[in-house]
Amino acid sequence: MKAAADRAIVITGPSGAGKNTLISAVRERIPELAYAVSATTRPPRKGERDGVDYHFLSPDEFAERVERGDFVEHESFSGYHYGTLRSEIEGKLAKGTSVMLDLEVKGARNLHRNLPGAYCVFVQPPSVEVLKSRLKKRGTESAEQFRRRTDTALIELKAKDEFDATVVNDRLGDAVDELTGLVRGALKSAG
Ligand code: ADP
Ligand code: 5GP
Repeated sequence: MKAAADRAIVITGPSGAGKNTLISAVRERIPELAYAVSATTRPPRKGERDGVDYHFLSPDEFAERVERGDFVEHESFSGYHYGTLRSEIEGKLAKGTSVMLDLEVKGARNLHRNLPGAYCVFVQPPSVEVLKSRLKKRGTESAEQFRRRTDTALIELKAKDEFDATVVNDRLGDAVDELTGLVRGALKSAG
């Protein structure tokens, strides 16, 4: 199982740091890398597709699946539940497919405990001001969600040294190059 866990790549960091953007770009460059679609109780944003961006569940459905033991890890974030389904990673890892996950900090920490071989990269914004302006520009969050997410970001930023590597997402092209290099390196050493 250790060799399989070595093929899990976790991308973490605060909301608005650029995790989604970087994951999409790295997956274009490393097409054999699968993505673990998380479950969430957050309502879909415009353009998000069920089963592609997330498995969108009601709070009752989410609780039932927690009860059934369907999650490798699950956390509350900004008033909603998010979790990694076993079905999204275990089969892929067992077949030798590498899987990328997008997790907030508590979940990344937890996954590291459950899958000790996982490689975790923290995505850091150049500054809190830049983080706020990107999140605002993304235009997806209510004032209340914006406040909750940026408050949480201040706590999450303190955790950056807990992970295997940090990528500062300043110029996007540079961050994509750096993350692609780190992921390739981690997969190479996983064999
Ligand atoms: P996360 O998944 O961490 O919440 P996103 O990938 O959604 O973050 O990025 C937040 C916003 O910042 C998005 O609108 C995205 O297009 C933008 N963004 C991401 N990286 C950069 C960058 N390097 N420069 C400028 N804008 C960026
Ligand atoms: P968003 O609502 O912006 O899509 O996601 C909010 C936060 O939840 C992000 O920081 C993202 O990394 C995190 N997240 C997404 N899926 C999961 C998951 O399965 N588990 C955990 N712990 N966090 C997740």
